[in-house]
Amino acid sequence: NPDLRLHLRLIPYSDELWLLVARDVTKMMRLEHMRRDFVANVSHELRTPLTVIHGYLEMLDPEDNPDWTPMLAEMQRQSQRMTQLVEDLLTLSRLEARDTLPEDTVGMASMLATLRREAEALSQGRHRISVVDDARIDLCGSTKELHSAFSNLVANAVRYTPTDGEIDVRFVRDGDGGATLSVRDSGYGIPAAHLPRITERFYRVSTSRSRESGGTGLGLAIAKHVLGLHDARLDIASEVGKGSTFACRFGPARVLARDATLTSTTT
Ligand code: ADP
Repeated sequence: NPDLRLHLRLIPYSDELWLLVARDVTKMMRLEHMRRDFVANVSHELRTPLTVIHGYLEMLDPEDNPDWTPMLAEMQRQSQRMTQLVEDLLTLSRLEARDTLPEDTVGMASMLATLRREAEALSQGRHRISVVDDARIDLCGSTKELHSAFSNLVANAVRYTPTDGEIDVRFVRDGDGGATLSVRDSGYGIPAAHLPRITERFYRVSTSRSRESGGTGLGLAIAKHVLGLHDARLDIASEVGKGSTFACRFGPARVLARDATLTSTTT
């Protein structure tokens, strides 16, 4: 059977014996594929009607009927939220269907500059934001997908940190030759009991806070998938009332010397 999928596990039994446990996961994998395809198809089908609704809403002039102003604003806000949700669902389906990603040179200096601009635009002066490049190296991977992972972490830091809080984005080299991009905030924090499930899709500590702040519930799931495709880890440390740190750890194989990059892109 070419479709047969087995999960194999080798368990030590005694000094000389091992147990080989084979589990048939063919049906589970097929159902998982069906779920993935269904979500991707529904999201895709929702895209066009949403674009039309959004377009016509933009054309309605509140001055024609001032009573409509708050309703039109709310309809626009909700249609934007739905559009973002559909886009995030499509991103996640696209990532789930892939085993590898393109291996570009990810210019970290411009990546960090972009993250700073995004954080400042979202924060609108409500937080102290620092972005530090201690590593002075680049990464090897997909610029587009890594940007979406990092930018979700930065958006969360802004969303879940009250006014006057601090947000610190830092890129450092690790002792093992790898590198870490961390996003630290002094925000609400995440209770320890929620941490193991926090990267599952639509898992939220507080649904109302997440909705109010414009989240779709998919940001961390996307970030975790992107990092997995780069053989990288997402480490989360958090303390309620003190803040959270999301650290993306890349192995040495993903690190590129910045000077070498400059030479290779100019020749
Ligand atoms: P959302 O769109 O709801 O923010 P995410 O997948 O990005 O979805 O995050 C999942 C949940 O994790 C959020 O709803 C929030 O409860 C929690 N969370 C994520 N980042 C932070 C953070 N920096 N500080 C506190 N809570 C966070």
